[in-house]
Amino acid sequence: MSEQYEAIVIGGGPAGLTAGLYLMRGGIRTVLLERVLPGGTPLNTGRIENYPGFPEGISGRELMERFTAHAKAFGLPVREFAEVLSVTRQEGLFTVTVNDGALTARGVIVASGTEPVRMGIPGENELVGRGISYCATCDGMFFRDLDVAVIGGGDSAIEEALSLANIVRKVYVVHRRDALRAQKILQERAFRSPKMEFLWNRRPVEIAGSQQVERLVIEDTKTGRREDLPVSGVFVYVGSRANTGFLGDLVERDPAGFIITDEGLATATPGLYAAGDVRKKTLRQVSTAVGDGAAAAVGLERYILGTQQ
Ligand code: NAP
Repeated sequence: MSEQYEAIVIGGGPAGLTAGLYLMRGGIRTVLLERVLPGGTPLNTGRIENYPGFPEGISGRELMERFTAHAKAFGLPVREFAEVLSVTRQEGLFTVTVNDGALTARGVIVASGTEPVRMGIPGENELVGRGISYCATCDGMFFRDLDVAVIGGGDSAIEEALSLANIVRKVYVVHRRDALRAQKILQERAFRSPKMEFLWNRRPVEIAGSQQVERLVIEDTKTGRREDLPVSGVFVYVGSRANTGFLGDLVERDPAGFIITDEGLATATPGLYAAGDVRKKTLRQVSTAVGDGAAAAVGLERYILGTQQ
């Protein structure tokens, strides 16, 4: 016999926790399923400076602890280590299968976020955890006073390169173009850092080392010339992929795999909403995830109560 709810929220990041909070306040019997522990991507962010209300900034961990406590204060059950394996819908009822059972509900909000994309170059899979990392906040301290490379030119790459610069001896930022995609304020800080060196128009082609990372091989995108960069660590930030494998054909996706929603964050399946980074959108930040969580929850509440406009 499966557990029955009115709504199930999948994912415990800022979007999911906000959706859960709104649903509970709306009197909708809800459960939130989280693959590991609540908090989502911001748990890996040292300091968040662009979430309003915290003029001095706040650590990603503390902000997410507050989000979790806030949702729980309104009675939201947060089920940890509940990995969703599949979502199906039959006769207006969703069945969500998790690692230890199944739950049913009239509506589901998918807020399952993203995971880092791998570069797919030789040595990457072999040396993950042995010098290759996708989280400087988690692993940076292992590289104290050593030289490391950061791959990518987006917000994640530059934010994490700045946090690494407080720990390591030198940070090489390897970027395939000659201009960064990251926010201007991050770029300005990075250009001011004496520990950072920018290697423009270079793409990584191999990571080498017998037991640990010893060097990164990079190629000049204009001349094709290859060179060895002796580094102990390689931090990869070349984008993210949406976690939607468990949804099958219930949603439409854009070519990059992000879920397509309408203005009210409804997907192609009635009663199924998407919120946060997992959704096709132009800006992925805590502030936009919060807005998504609220909008999806109100949309689902109206769907359940039959008061949609
Ligand atoms: P992103 O914005 O997609 O940037 C990925 C970077 O990797 C780009 O510079 C891209 O180069 C480069 N790249 C892509 N494929 C590559 C490859 N195969 N080899 C080498 N380089 C490659 O990803 P992100 O930085 O992880 O950010 C994801 C989202 O989260 C964004 O919307 C971002 O704004 C948001 N975010 C926000 C904050 C914040 O507000 N503080 C912090 C982190 C992330 P090109 O530039 O040439 O395409």
